[in-house]
Formats: sequence, structure tokens, C-alpha cells
Amino acid sequence: MRDPRYNILFEPIKIGPVTAKNRFYQVPHCTGSGWQRPRILAGLREMKAEGGWAVVNTEYCSVHPSSDDPPHPCASLWDDRDIRAHALMTEKVHAHGALAGVELCIGGARMANLDTREPSMSAVSMPNLAGNPFQTRAMDLDDIKEVRRWHRNAALRAKTAGFDVVYVYATHGYLISQFLSPTINTRTDEYGGSLENRIRLLREIIDDTKDAVGDTMAVAVRFSAETNGGNGGDGLPEPGETEEMFGTLGELPDLWDINVNDYSIEMGLSRFVQQGALEPYVKKIKSLTSKPVVSVGRFTSPDMMVSQIKHGVMDLIGAARPSIADPFLPRKIEEGRLEDIRECIGCNICYMGDGKGVPIRCTQNPTMSEEWRRGWHPEKIAQKKSDSSVLIIGAGPAGLEAAHSLGKRGYSVMLAEADRELGGRVTKEAKLPGLAEWIRVRDYRVQQIEKMNHVEIFRESEMTAEQVLEVGADHIAIATGAEWRRDGYGPNALGGIADLAEPKSVFTPDDILNGNLPEGKVVIYDDDHYYMGTVIAELIRKSGAQVTLVTPADTISSWGYYTYDRWRAQTRLMELEVDLVVSHGLRYFDGNYVQLECGYTGREKTVSTNVLVLVTARSPKDTLFEELSRRCSQATQSNIITLKKIGDCDAPAIIAAAVYSGHRYARHLDETIDVDNPLKHDRVFFEDA
Ligand code: ADP
Ligand code: SF4
Repeated sequence: MRDPRYNILFEPIKIGPVTAKNRFYQVPHCTGSGWQRPRILAGLREMKAEGGWAVVNTEYCSVHPSSDDPPHPCASLWDDRDIRAHALMTEKVHAHGALAGVELCIGGARMANLDTREPSMSAVSMPNLAGNPFQTRAMDLDDIKEVRRWHRNAALRAKTAGFDVVYVYATHGYLISQFLSPTINTRTDEYGGSLENRIRLLREIIDDTKDAVGDTMAVAVRFSAETNGGNGGDGLPEPGETEEMFGTLGELPDLWDINVNDYSIEMGLSRFVQQGALEPYVKKIKSLTSKPVVSVGRFTSPDMMVSQIKHGVMDLIGAARPSIADPFLPRKIEEGRLEDIRECIGCNICYMGDGKGVPIRCTQNPTMSEEWRRGWHPEKIAQKKSDSSVLIIGAGPAGLEAAHSLGKRGYSVMLAEADRELGGRVTKEAKLPGLAEWIRVRDYRVQQIEKMNHVEIFRESEMTAEQVLEVGADHIAIATGAEWRRDGYGPNALGGIADLAEPKSVFTPDDILNGNLPEGKVVIYDDDHYYMGTVIAELIRKSGAQVTLVTPADTISSWGYYTYDRWRAQTRLMELEVDLVVSHGLRYFDGNYVQLECGYTGREKTVSTNVLVLVTARSPKDTLFEELSRRCSQATQSNIITLKKIGDCDAPAIIAAAVYSGHRYARHLDETIDVDNPLKHDRVFFEDA
């Protein structure tokens, strides 16, 4: 039963002509599926509705081919043939009593239209804000009329598709924000210059949308609180402008969806940004309008949500990531099952799908994007198909997830872990600077497993092949993880690096995770390109050592581009006075200096150091698996039905991949999987092409 303290979260909220059944609001968020994968999208959005979110939104939805954003997948409502794909989602969302919203988007200088090759347009002719060498065309008055018409038509299609909420998107560097910006919008006609002129397009599009569909659909405006929507580096409002603007526009839409322009705050990594970071910005807007306000803050705690409402910060609790990590978060609060909430860890692996153009995935929720194509429900799983027992070796993310999901299926599971502490790499990495929230990967699973009598945990049980066989389990999963390599092998040195000093002055992340910190002058060589190199640099620098971070890539933490680690990490290291050397490969280390080689010119450079930390690649710890395979193949009669490797022991990767691997193992046990077609392939409707 629900704790009465949380009753306020379940109050219905009127949003213009529609009513949200509670205050849980899934804000628009990218899914990496866009118009290309409509069924995957409908499947994942349905889960949010089933899980209790009152409003479930699409990602940004382009209104016309002149707003086209590859490689980032966006939804589209370009013509009537787009309606069917959206209707798939709205029907499923409605079936669970939720409202469906669509975030209409006009690209402006943020989109270069690389697919459609239509000219990109903005208030003025300005550089593309996504780094493409294409400038926009300055819109004339006819262009403005056309853009308004496209937006209106898209709103009408959204209505036909069954949406209940339609957005006017006035932030994040898309077209309307350029019109709002005092810096960018230097037009001299009635759409530029004064505040009244700069807000004209936004006002007209709100009016158009209300006129077209406002009788039955709520009109929401997404707006950046600190820049009045402006982007391009310095679109800050003049003092008093926000107040003046809300004097004109504050009561026009049915809902204000408030964020900040800077993604690194808005969807801040837990490594750098705390929960509820938008509060000061949102609170200000809330004081300027009587319309409902929604915003985000990586909220996973119902107490924090209640406090946001009671303190007048927002009316609806917006969430992207918490709804991805746990689509059933509202329902768990409603049913008084707080310990079952799978809390987001703030790692932003979910954001990677947008940058890579692939379906969204989540470290905590392995079923994300797999609802339709694999039939995976985040809360339900098929019951066991036999009375077989399963022995899992290793309680890292892969082993814990496998044990948890097999336990849910009803299997009798034994989980053996060499260490006293469970969690494997997550337990160790969560002790690194800024990564404390990552421990939720372990805690959620351990908490669930501890409720299951048929899952037994054996700590401090380092298993040999002999001992494994003695247990006599029917199925064995080896989840023994991986270890960082000490030979320099990595993407930039596939033959390893021959000339390295004696092991005592060469460290790997495992040494550091085991509490062995180097001192003196330290060079960290990052050929891994994600978070580990920069996090370790921060840790070692803070312990007082002099640190140089070297990478063969052209930027620090280059893969961190996809998770938003990169920029903040570089800022932090620069603030800590860590020396940064990019575009250089490591060639040699003799205990006194490292020799580096420029990736472009081949010129050599030396840095004096007494310690080298190699963050390059990992080796699977699969000797136990190999030994068991050998014994099983030699035995004339083996009782083992299956022997499998999962997680990093199978293929070292990110934590999300280990969780996924453990989950997949659990789903597939005793099931017949068609190896030729292990998942359904989403395609746009062929007959509509
Ligand atoms: P993954 O990310 O694949 O889950 P981790 O490296 O996080 O891998 O976890 C592997 C876990 O396996 C570690 O906790 C480690 O202590 C444990 N382990 C490794 N070898 C054995 C073994 N022979 N017996 C029991 N546990 C083991
Ligand atoms: Fe949260 Fe990470 Fe999942 Fe994104 S991928 S929802 S940040 S746990």
C-alpha cells in the first residue's frame, strides 16, 4: 500500500483540455529509434504507461524535411504517412490510461539537413550549431509563414495520430530559440531586435497550435530557463527580460516544460551534477506563471519529488532517465514497493543511442528497447521450464543480474563470489571520484536476490574447476569478469608495447581499484577513451601526485562524447592542473621517462615520469571456463547441461553490456532461441514508402 506521504504525487493535474492522472511525467527524450524503428518505440513507450507515468512523450519530432538531423534519429510528422507509426504508440499509451505527447521540432541552426539536403533556415544566416560547415539561410517573411504552416500541419497530424499533448519546442538550439536570442537574432524586421519582436514567432506558433488543436490537445512549451531558449554560446536574456516575456506569454500555453540550455547540467552525469540541479532555474519560472510547470532532476526518491512539489518548484515530476532505468517507478511508489525501484545511476549510457543512431539502452534496465523486438518486459519474465539448478561463478553486474533474473524465473540458483563483497567491478569503481551512485547496480540486485529463498549466495568462495564440478549443478554460468592489461595492448597498439619498464612501476586500473595508488610523477596512458582514464587521473592528482594524461585520440575521453563525460572531465582535469597530451601514442617507458609519438607526424616527445598507468584494454578472466570446457569435453559422461561465459569474462565491455549479458543468459535458459532470427527486425512500413 502507498505511504500517505506520497499521496500528493498521485493527484490528477489538469493540463489545458486534458488531465494527467498523476504527477509523473515522462518528458520527451531521445531513443535512438526515431522514425526508423516505430515498433521498438511503441514498445518502450508502452512500458512507461503501464508503469504508471501519466504522460508519455515522444522524442523530438521533425515537422518537415527541412528539419532533419542525422545521424541522430528523430521522429517525424512530415506527411500523413507518418501518422500510422505514431498511432502505434498512442494506442498503447492510452491502453494504460496515460496521455501521449509529441514534441514537435523545427531544426533551425542545430540541424544541417544532411539527409534531405533541404536548406537549413534560421533567424539570420548563421553557423550550424552541431559543428557542420553549413550556414543557415536567413528566413524571409515567406519562410516564416511556411514554417508556421508546417508546424500547424504537423500538429493536426499529431491530433489524428491520437496525441493528447503537443509541444512547441523553444530551446536546445532549435529554431525558435534562435529567434528568442538577443545575441543571435539581429533581424531588423518585426521578428528581430526588441523582446516583443524576438518572441513573436514563438507566440505565433503557440497561437497557431492552440487554434489548430488546442480544443482537445494540451499545448506545452519547452523552454530554457536560464537563456530564454537562446543558444549559440551567449543567448542570455537581458536583465528583466524573462519577467517581461512571461508577462506576455506566461499564460498562453497549457504547460511549461522547463530545462536549461546546457545539456551537461540538464542531463548531468552523477559524476558531476547532483539530483535536482535545475531547481533554482525552474523555481523562478514557476513564480511567473499560473500554468503547470514540469521539469527534471534525475529524481528517483519519492521524498525528493514530494519536496519539489511542496516547495513550489514544479507541479509535475518530469523524468527521462529515471523512467528509462525503471519504467515502473510510479507504480512501485503507489504500491509501497520503494525497495524495488531500480534507480538511475546517472551514467548517460542511455544518451549514447542518440549519438550512435542505435536503440537506447540502459545500464540499470537491460530490457530497454527490447520490449517489442525480444518481448522483454521490465518486470515480468517467463517462469522456469525445468527444475534444473544453476551455478553462477562471480557476482559482478553480469553474475548478479543473471542470478536475479533466474531467481525471478523460479530457478534454484547458487551464486559463488571469491570476494567478501558482492558487485565485482561496480563495487570497486563506485569508490572512484564521482561514481558513488553506480553502486546502485549492485544494491538493486542484491536487495532483490536476498528476498528469494531459492537463490543462495556464497561469499569468499573462490571456485576451482574441481569445486565447480563437485557442486553438480545442471547449468553453469561463468561470470568471472576481466582484468586490465599490463602490456599496452589496445586499439592503438594491437601488438602490445614491447618496451615497458619492470611491472612495479607500471600500474593498471586494477591496481588502483585495489587501493594501490602511485606517487610522484605519473603518466596515465588512456587508449580506452571512456571514463576510466580521466577518473583515475582525478583520483591520483587529488592524492598529490603530478599527473600527465596522454591519449592517442584527438580529445580527452573521446568516447565520452556520447555520454557527455568528455567536456566536464576535461574541465575538471584542467582545473586540477593535470597536463593533457592528445594525439600521441605510447612507444616506450624505462622507469624514468615515457617516449610518445605524434599520431600525425611521427615526431617523438618524452615526458619524465617514474610511474606509468596503462588504461588500454582488458583480458577476459576465462581460465576457469577453459578448464571446465576441457574437462567436460574429456569426460565420457558429464551431467552438466550447459556451460556458458557471460559478461566481461565473455567479452569485456561497459557495465551496461555485462548487465545485459546476464539478463540475456537468464531469459534464454531452457528456451528455444532461433539463432538465425534471435530478435525481430523493426522496419518502417514498407507499403507506405
Ligand atoms: P562482470 O562485469 O562481467 O560482471 P566483474 O569483473 O564485475 O565482471 O565481476 C567478476 C566477479 O567474479 C568478481 O567479483 C570476482 O571476484 C569474481 N570471481 C572471479 N573469479 C572467481 C572464481 N574463480 N570464483 C568465484 N568468483 C570469482
Ligand atoms: Fe540512468 Fe544510466 Fe540508465 Fe541512463 S543508462 S537511465 S543514466 S542508469
